[in-house]
Amino acid sequence: MSMENVFFETNGLSGIPMKNYKSYSLRNFRKIPQMDLLSEDVKFAIEVVGSVLPFKVNNYVIDELINWDKAPDDPIFILTFPIKELLKPYHFNEMADVIKRGASRPEIKQKADEIRLQLNPHPAGQLEHNVPEYQEEKLQGLQHKYRETVLFFPSQGQTCHAYCSFCFRWPQFVGMNDYKFAMRETNKLIGYLKEHPEVTDVLFTGGDPMVMKARILRKYIEPLLDADLPNLKNIRIGSKSLSYWPYKYVNAPDAEDTLKLFREVSDAGIHLAFMAHFNHPVELKTKVARKAVNNILATGAQIRTQSPLLHRINDHADAWSEMWEEQVALGMIPYYMFMVRDTGAQHFYGIPLEKAWNIFRDAYQKVSGIGRTVRGPSMSAGPGKVQILGVEEIHGERVFVLRMIQGRDPEWVHKPFFAKYDPEAIWLDDLEPAFGQSEFFYNEKLEEIYAE
Ligand SMILES: *Cc1c(COP(=O)(O)O)cnc(C)c1O
Ligand code: SF4
Repeated sequence: MSMENVFFETNGLSGIPMKNYKSYSLRNFRKIPQMDLLSEDVKFAIEVVGSVLPFKVNNYVIDELINWDKAPDDPIFILTFPIKELLKPYHFNEMADVIKRGASRPEIKQKADEIRLQLNPHPAGQLEHNVPEYQEEKLQGLQHKYRETVLFFPSQGQTCHAYCSFCFRWPQFVGMNDYKFAMRETNKLIGYLKEHPEVTDVLFTGGDPMVMKARILRKYIEPLLDADLPNLKNIRIGSKSLSYWPYKYVNAPDAEDTLKLFREVSDAGIHLAFMAHFNHPVELKTKVARKAVNNILATGAQIRTQSPLLHRINDHADAWSEMWEEQVALGMIPYYMFMVRDTGAQHFYGIPLEKAWNIFRDAYQKVSGIGRTVRGPSMSAGPGKVQILGVEEIHGERVFVLRMIQGRDPEWVHKPFFAKYDPEAIWLDDLEPAFGQSEFFYNEKLEEIYAE
């Protein structure tokens, strides 16, 4: 298909009825019509857990993704509604007691904050170690951890169309503002990029940058195009909007302008890499989501997909092979499978490394080569993105074989290393070096980097 002939089938042309966005949170969730299908216990749990962890869901997720015959066990229900098991029993009981005795809002908030601080609200040293400087000022809206890629947190993109209950950015949604990155001024980003020719990629992230209206997103993207930065090759946008609000690219009032902006990026010779977040095959099945994918691809952008591996949502190989197959058929590129981070509800969602590797391998074996662009399972940890390559026995010692897909020091990337086998390990911190070594190969350098 030649680019000149492509036009976006937005608005009336799509044949898909428009939907007005309506969201629910702790305040009004009892008004969701489908709540009648749930027991009072489940609703009380929503209130208790939703007081601690973020909770927001919208009418697309409710009407088109959740299978209410299966709720509260339905995967998309678990993904978006706070269920009892997301908190440890003692935390749940503490909050339940506070609510049952009819405590005031400030009291509930105080208890919530107390529990939140015990849930490791800023994992992998995000606060201390990744904030870059420009003209002697710390740029709180940027993160620069890996040489080629700068993360940019536009301030109006720091919320989402719905919240995932495993989200590692949860602190910013509950108003723990110390942990919120945000920056308005694109000119500082541009200044930083000029000083750092090694940076090829800017990744817009959040929250979800695609909650921004096209007109606002344009204010961030246009200056980057106009600045004519020779080093800027890729603009990436990390977004869950294809699963939580695909109307954005089909018949929302700003759909056409959004797609036009994407096209302008391609026309400027910069690759627009849309990093789509999908957790379950059902998110790929609706007409509107599929149309949205088509429309984005027609702008010249590409869509790469990523998801964490999550207990009770996608913890079996079929869910993954189905996702990858379907994504490839729709023209997307499977990119990452992540381990859930050591924060928030990890005790519920976390999956042992060995099991994760088995799920990944089983799914990977089922898809053809063009689906095997995906890498994982990967832990985004302090030193880098660490992939579990396998479990193996070497000279009588059972070990995990690991490698870094990304490293705080680029020299670390793609070098295999080994950890003692531990069937219960769910994160890098649980691992010890194998073969009698006292440290992993990167530890000394990592200490130096942290000390800078
Ligand atoms: C994952 C990630 C990136 C991008 O890594 P790629 O492997 O290039 O996709 C950049 N910065 C941070 C902090 C990340 O976690
Ligand atoms: S869409 Fe992304 S940032 Fe938003 S809640 Fe889900 S995982 Fe978190």
